[in-house]
Amino acid sequence: MTITLEFLGANRHVTGSKHLLTVNGRRILLECGMMQGPRRLSNKLNRNLPLAPKKIYAVVLSHAHIDHSGSLPRLVKLGYQGNIHCTEATKDLLGILLPDSAHIQASDARYLKKRGHAFEPAYDMEDVERTLKQTRGANYYQPIQICPEVQVTFLDAGHILGSAQVILDIDDGKHKLRVGFTGDLGRYRTPILRDPDPLPRCDVIITESTYGNRTHPQVQDLNNQIVAVLKEQEEQGGRILIPAFSIGRTQNLLWFLGQLMRDGKIPQTTIHVDSPLSTKATAIAAKHRDLYDQETATMLELGHDPFQFEGLHFTSDVEESKRLNGLRKGIIISASGMCEGGRILHHLKQTIGRPEDLVLIVGFQAEGTLGRKLLEDYAVVKIYGERHDVQCRVRHIDGLSAHADRKELSRHLSPLAPTTEKVFVVHGEEHASMQFADRLLSEGFRNIEVPLYKESFTLRP
Ligand SMILES: [Zn+2]
Repeated sequence: MTITLEFLGANRHVTGSKHLLTVNGRRILLECGMMQGPRRLSNKLNRNLPLAPKKIYAVVLSHAHIDHSGSLPRLVKLGYQGNIHCTEATKDLLGILLPDSAHIQASDARYLKKRGHAFEPAYDMEDVERTLKQTRGANYYQPIQICPEVQVTFLDAGHILGSAQVILDIDDGKHKLRVGFTGDLGRYRTPILRDPDPLPRCDVIITESTYGNRTHPQVQDLNNQIVAVLKEQEEQGGRILIPAFSIGRTQNLLWFLGQLMRDGKIPQTTIHVDSPLSTKATAIAAKHRDLYDQETATMLELGHDPFQFEGLHFTSDVEESKRLNGLRKGIIISASGMCEGGRILHHLKQTIGRPEDLVLIVGFQAEGTLGRKLLEDYAVVKIYGERHDVQCRVRHIDGLSAHADRKELSRHLSPLAPTTEKVFVVHGEEHASMQFADRLLSEGFRNIEVPLYKESFTLRP
């Protein structure tokens, strides 16, 4: 009759989320994320999962991002046959993200093999198909009994479409315990998505802390920043290239650009979305209108579709994408978001040497990526192994983040300080998690842990 919690990923780190809850010997895995980072280390960790897949009873997933879901097909390949519980929209997004992940691994393997390196993908398309068959979509707010001892309820997390905070109500016959997991928590007042639902009273909270030590600009500043960039470009005359993540960021950008054009705050401009994954993700977002916030629902009622307006085009095939090489005006939104692969590189090759063109960075750029080099004003960069002088202008817009900042995380959690017995701070770089833990302490939480990898805690003996 014990309840334990073991941390197996995203501890003092942001990728590879995995938290293992054990109730009376029954193992429930919260998240099964892929490690991203230096290739050799992450390959090893993604192949050798730190748990016994056949002994897991159920998996619960907060949202579709690969750093939370990307190792699910590996878990299935290694023998997991149970259910994977998530929201309906998350299930839809897994249907495009997991095949994409298998596809990337297969092409990496081909590329490395040509250069004499052995690399075996962690899983293939067949494993992905089996994983998707084991996925069970649920509605928000409807409790589901995932095993005799544990009931799960999904609340909106406002982070990406379908994202959830997970409430686990545990009754092992001797103790009743409620564990609340924030998943990745979104921002308040962002477009399309609803604000994060308040967390109910919980005994134990597991919270993310990605921006636990930072604050983001307000949404109003964001509008002003976009307007300033578009005005600058109108005077310069070239095209704007925006590297953007396919899920969330691309749809948010379209929402902002469409709205600003309708309000006459920026000139009427053609926008090309050139990424198969972004196009599919936008179609899934368009299907789940029931999940939109009030502002976007009203917009639709007034006949303004955030993903369908004059001047917006989604490229349908490679030929059409190639034709964009000749485009000298307007906006191209493409992936990957950090310029590490995908069609954005073809467009960058054209734009990089033109002083009249502009690259607009709208998301986090990890160290060592091409996007980061552009942001840091490198004079020369490599694209497909070729050196290019950076002649184009590079601008940066901050605040389109899908993660709550320090203030928003505090606002979300602080009302629960008097009644919460223990808080675990996960999913943040070490300094962000530690500083956020200090902040929680100053807000009245008493028992706070920033767990280490493979650290285990007994919640009820
Ligand atoms: Zn996420």
